[in-house]
Amino acid sequence: MRYSPGRPGAASPAGGPWRNWAGTAAATPARWGQPQSEAEISASVKDAAAAGLRVRALGSGHSFTPAAATDGLALDLSGWTGIVAADTRTGTVTVRSGTTLRALNAALDGLGLAMANLGDIDAQTVAGALSTGTHGTGARLGGLATQAEAFGLVLADGSAVMCSASERPELFAAARVGLGALGVVSTVTLRCVPAFMLAAEEGPELVDDVIERFDSMAAENDHFEFYWFPYGRYALVKRNNRLSPGRTAAPNVRASRPMPGWRRFWEFEVMENAGFGTLCRLGRAAPRIIPALSRFSSAALSTRSYTDASYRVFVTPRRVRFVESEYAVPRESLGGVLAELRRAVPRLPDPVMFPVEVRVAAADDIWLSTAYGRDTAYVAIHQYTGLPYRAYFDAFESIVAEVAGRPHWGKMHTLDAERLRALYPRFDDFRRVRAETDPEARFGNSYLERVLGQSLPSYDEPARRRTAWGERRVIRLAASACGRRERSTACRSLAR
Ligand SMILES: Cc1cc2nc3c(=O)[nH]c(=O)nc-3n(C[C@H](O)[C@H](O)[C@H](O)COP(=O)(O)OP(=O)(O)OC[C@H]3O[C@@H](n4cnc5c(N)ncnc54)[C@H](O)[C@@H]3O)c2cc1C
Repeated sequence: MRYSPGRPGAASPAGGPWRNWAGTAAATPARWGQPQSEAEISASVKDAAAAGLRVRALGSGHSFTPAAATDGLALDLSGWTGIVAADTRTGTVTVRSGTTLRALNAALDGLGLAMANLGDIDAQTVAGALSTGTHGTGARLGGLATQAEAFGLVLADGSAVMCSASERPELFAAARVGLGALGVVSTVTLRCVPAFMLAAEEGPELVDDVIERFDSMAAENDHFEFYWFPYGRYALVKRNNRLSPGRTAAPNVRASRPMPGWRRFWEFEVMENAGFGTLCRLGRAAPRIIPALSRFSSAALSTRSYTDASYRVFVTPRRVRFVESEYAVPRESLGGVLAELRRAVPRLPDPVMFPVEVRVAAADDIWLSTAYGRDTAYVAIHQYTGLPYRAYFDAFESIVAEVAGRPHWGKMHTLDAERLRALYPRFDDFRRVRAETDPEARFGNSYLERVLGQSLPSYDEPARRRTAWGERRVIRLAASACGRRERSTACRSLAR
């Protein structure tokens, strides 16, 4: 296994500072590890414990929150990839955690399989995407974590365990959207479906009509979403519907009509990335013209109709950088939330350059899933990188707070454990499993301290822990931030 000390100035993983895709989070890990096997993951966790370091597994850095940030050991899993086992009859596929969704989709396609639903990019690692509750859209479908059947996990003591609905079921219930708080995910077993084609219909529609007919359109289409340009009259509406299983379309449906390469390049690279990026740069240089640019973008939306392998339709390139916040709201409250947002945007001190994205998901039973126990609409707001966004995001948060909105764990939000606890009926169960599994918060970081409220022994300040005064202070800090069970766990671990 390769270890390297932090190298200030280096920009990429495997030595040096770490930075996320959006540039909203950065850290300087004390140490980097690049395990190539589960045994090496275990060894690196044990070594970190011996050195008094906390541990975070890294995905592709596509979370906007500092979910993966660490000042301890950063585990770069880009050398731990590929499919371990696949049963094409049942669709069960076990994959190493550092595999990107892009690589997974291609490998599944080769096996005649596919993920039932995906988000709109494929740069994330499998474990990174699952850990924050990544989702796509579909009123009858859940997020990616609903497709997970089992996990291989390396725990804080370095032991490697399996968990599933039948084996360590509570650990599995927590790990499905685990925030990297329970251990290093080593493998993920996914329940895949036979490869399928999607017929994509995309085009502009009046935003008032789209909002009014939202429920019926979400019900009538397998995957329905829309993008609304805040100052424009039109939304870009995307309807993706499944054709029969298998790569060959059945006689009663249209045959495969993938978008020709040149059109794909024009639509996605030129129009949605290069062209839109130019408009964004113009808007950043002259913010006063942003509403006009937004109206122009809204009016210039084109109509597209094509059929392709599911993963090629779900995913599009995203090269223009932005910041994002996304909240899951009860489906029935979507109309009110959008009405409030439409009232708020014109009153903001700074104009908004990026569209609002609206998606749906079915209720699920995953403890920290944003769709736990309720049919959900997702409202995602964005701003072009470098433009002010705080007032916009604050206004959005106060609107969704009125309807018990739950923030995406990987996108920007300001909620802390106290607020989140009220939003998740199984929040304390998650914290209990975490306290039992990782009593010293080996896999903690400051983001988890905020969202889970657990401030166990401070690895940032080891000297303080050596003094009796320091121990009392850490216990007081932990006690004020944790539940009763965690409090006693904190005391026990400090007493060791
Ligand atoms: C352009 C863009 C588009 C996006 N589109 C969508 C979308 O359509 N839908 C959606 O829901 N979200 C979307 N996201 C958010 C993104 O899917 C999530 O933030 C996701 O977590 C990022 O995955 P990652 O591999 O980059 O993980 P990272 O951001 O690197 O890490 C996320 C978390 O996973 C943990 N982790 C990673 N690997 C492991 C492991 N092996 N074991 C334990 N913990 C681990 C990390 O410690 C961290 O806590 C998008 C983000 C961007 C930048």
